[in-house]
Amino acid sequence: MKKNTEDRFDVIVIGAGVVGCSIARELSRFKVKVAVLEKESDVGWGSSCRNSGVIHAGFNNKPGTLMAKYCVEGNQKFHSIAQELDVPFKKTGKLVVAKKNNEITGLKKLKRQGELNGVKNLEIIGEQEIKKLEPNVRGVAALLSPETAITSPYLYTIALAENALKNGVRFYLNTEVENIKKKTSGEFFLKTQNKQFIADYLINSTGVYCDEIARMAGIDCYRIYPCRGEYYVLDKNASSLMNHLIYPVPHIEEGGLGIHLTPTVDGNVLIGPSNEYIDINKRNDYAVTMEVLFKLCKEAQEFLPAISPRYFIRNYAGIRSKQTPPSQGGYKDYVIEESEEAPNMISLIGIESPGLTAAYPIAKKVVSMIDQKEKLTPNPHFNPYRKGILRFEEQDDETKKELVEENSDYGEVICRCEQVTKKEILEAIDNPLGARSLISIKYRSRAMMGRCQGGYCQTRILELLKEKYNYNWNDFLLRGSGSYMLTGNRSNGEPGI
Ligand SMILES: Cc1cc2nc3c(=O)[nH]c(=O)nc-3n(C[C@H](O)[C@H](O)[C@H](O)COP(=O)(O)OP(=O)(O)OC[C@H]3O[C@@H](n4cnc5c(N)ncnc54)[C@H](O)[C@@H]3O)c2cc1C
Repeated sequence: MKKNTEDRFDVIVIGAGVVGCSIARELSRFKVKVAVLEKESDVGWGSSCRNSGVIHAGFNNKPGTLMAKYCVEGNQKFHSIAQELDVPFKKTGKLVVAKKNNEITGLKKLKRQGELNGVKNLEIIGEQEIKKLEPNVRGVAALLSPETAITSPYLYTIALAENALKNGVRFYLNTEVENIKKKTSGEFFLKTQNKQFIADYLINSTGVYCDEIARMAGIDCYRIYPCRGEYYVLDKNASSLMNHLIYPVPHIEEGGLGIHLTPTVDGNVLIGPSNEYIDINKRNDYAVTMEVLFKLCKEAQEFLPAISPRYFIRNYAGIRSKQTPPSQGGYKDYVIEESEEAPNMISLIGIESPGLTAAYPIAKKVVSMIDQKEKLTPNPHFNPYRKGILRFEEQDDETKKELVEENSDYGEVICRCEQVTKKEILEAIDNPLGARSLISIKYRSRAMMGRCQGGYCQTRILELLKEKYNYNWNDFLLRGSGSYMLTGNRSNGEPGI
């Protein structure tokens, strides 16, 4: 049997979601030896790729909470971070729409709350103005929030990780932390299936699993109640139906923002998410259910009657890490703390929405907690910039011509729905983190995200993987270990699909 080796780091971040990757990037601004351990075969596969992709303005959260403070700060900083990391960002603005007059008080309350939190440019508009901005939307009044924006949550997480990697952070994918021991020297000893790790500081950024990880380190005061949100993805034809994000007036006791319509940066529209507490022992139950999906469609049609099931191309679900049990509902503020039971371990508990928006200020807070104890030295080689994969389809004709002349792989379209070229897919396959499941390639290149959902291009992408890495049939994985794309044998000994 292969002997286990031990790797030693100043700081280990457990969990490569948007928050863990953001913390890793912020730490890489300093001379610190950092590792990120992630149980999945890519970054961002927890709630960070399963949300609405909204950069919230900050009017939904109670004044004085960390949620409110970090949301407003995250929103204001997002544009410059997105530029550094070459991540899509669109300030589409949002309308919270009152369907009936008795909901207008709710809009006023949100406006007041937002202003207390420091949100700019909030305005309540009437029926006529709604019609001007959104001819297809029905409502008697709305709160207009021009600061609300959208991004690609998976590209953002990937970009944070790639930039952290470039600045010296080590990423260990397929590395699930199974046990944590505090040694008498004060260091943490982490057991994973293949390797053991030692760290001076430990960051628990494991989303919906944060209470389990805390318990491994002897901290038993946190409880997470997983709460699922299901979505429909609509194809690009639906994008002409709306310009802004369209939300209902939220009922805070439900613990979600209500079923909303969100344009994505790629031109699709999302309907969702629903709000359903699930079994505490099934935290990764990302099932989508007929019952909820019918409900989503019905509620979306109340705002936008033109929504039709013929636009639906896919569905997915994300899981909120709630600190409030089903009997209570609502929200409890983020907990970011070092507990007495485990000095030098920082726990991030209940990082539910707006965690995507707030990831940067949360990361800064974690780094400042370590800095207070350790006085970190700046890394003179830190480079904040990262370049994403160039989207051929988004270029003008002249640039497209030049690109094809430079590299003929730009001249071959592999994904017809999304017009993704061979060059882009090869870059996605060759990503710096070495994540090569089909879903990793999909998130990076957009191939397989269109109307046919990979019906045309998937086998061609498998061929590219085979050409490049000489894969055997059982090397092709959809989403990490065990998720084989090809199974069984044909009579000629070749695998079937
Ligand atoms: C339905 C829904 C909609 C949302 N919409 C928005 C929105 O529009 N805007 C917004 O700002 N926020 C939104 N959020 C919130 C946002 O998605 C989360 O706050 C954010 O993604 C949390 O990131 P994270 O890194 O803390 O957690 P995660 O992304 O869940 O990452 C945790 C990581 O830890 C890993 N992990 C767990 N256990 C272990 C272990 N033992 N060893 C190693 N790794 C481990 C997991 O695999 C995972 O990758 C939404 C959330 C949901 C569920």
